[in-house]
Amino acid sequence: MSSFRLFDSHAHVNFVAFEDDWRAVLDDCQRHGVAVTLVGSQLPTSRRAIELAELYPEGVYAAVGLHPVHVADQPQPFRVEDYAAMISASSRVVAIGETGIDHFRLPAGREAQDLERQREVFIAQLRLARDHELALVIHTREHPTKPPAAYAEVLGILRREQAAGLPQGVIHCFLGTVEEAEAFTALGLYVGITGIITFEKRSEQLRRVAAAVPLERLVVETDSPYLAPQSYRGKRNQPQYVAHVVEEIARCKGVSAAVAAEQTSENARRLFGIKN
Ligand SMILES: [Zn+2]
Repeated sequence: MSSFRLFDSHAHVNFVAFEDDWRAVLDDCQRHGVAVTLVGSQLPTSRRAIELAELYPEGVYAAVGLHPVHVADQPQPFRVEDYAAMISASSRVVAIGETGIDHFRLPAGREAQDLERQREVFIAQLRLARDHELALVIHTREHPTKPPAAYAEVLGILRREQAAGLPQGVIHCFLGTVEEAEAFTALGLYVGITGIITFEKRSEQLRRVAAAVPLERLVVETDSPYLAPQSYRGKRNQPQYVAHVVEEIARCKGVSAAVAAEQTSENARRLFGIKN
């Protein structure tokens, strides 16, 4: 059995928000048995995720990829070889991402072109994960006012790629409907639940999702430094706070926090192909 009792499947301790105390934060995770996957959003933060993961013998892992909101603003266009090189150079890379489709922050005046590039770059990263037998960390965000379409679009892409085989994957920071969650789990994916489930507002649908999706298909995440749980609202989030997400899931499921912790940690290890 793993010595890690909790698994934060999505954190950004590799981001500048932690530049002064990343070591204290990760050391504290190790002491308290919190495993964590550090997720990159472009080349430098992906490299940084690997750098930090390699400092620890276990319990810290890296995901490398290009986030859809960064597709347009890179100094160089996306090259799959850059990420493939990182995978070959480090055994600590367990996933590709975060990648996906973001309808929320499209650049004004070139929405259609940007979305087309997002799709291409997402599909390239999906295939990279498939070819290297790595997990895929999928970011999906709906437009703030238009009818929802981003989850449907991600589902469509996954279904078209399914014939050639889908990698393991997680729909990170899931905020869709129960039906959408079930469509993803039917494709073998995991549903990632953040601290939003602890919010007094906006959490009702997410609680329904947590209740409906089998516990074996849920993983927990903080997305730190963002999305601090209710009791830390407005503060910087950190991986240890994933315990609050677990507690809320346990409440939705009617199981003990220990059971929810054990199962979601096992799920994350299965998702990322981590043996012990
Ligand atoms: Zn993230």
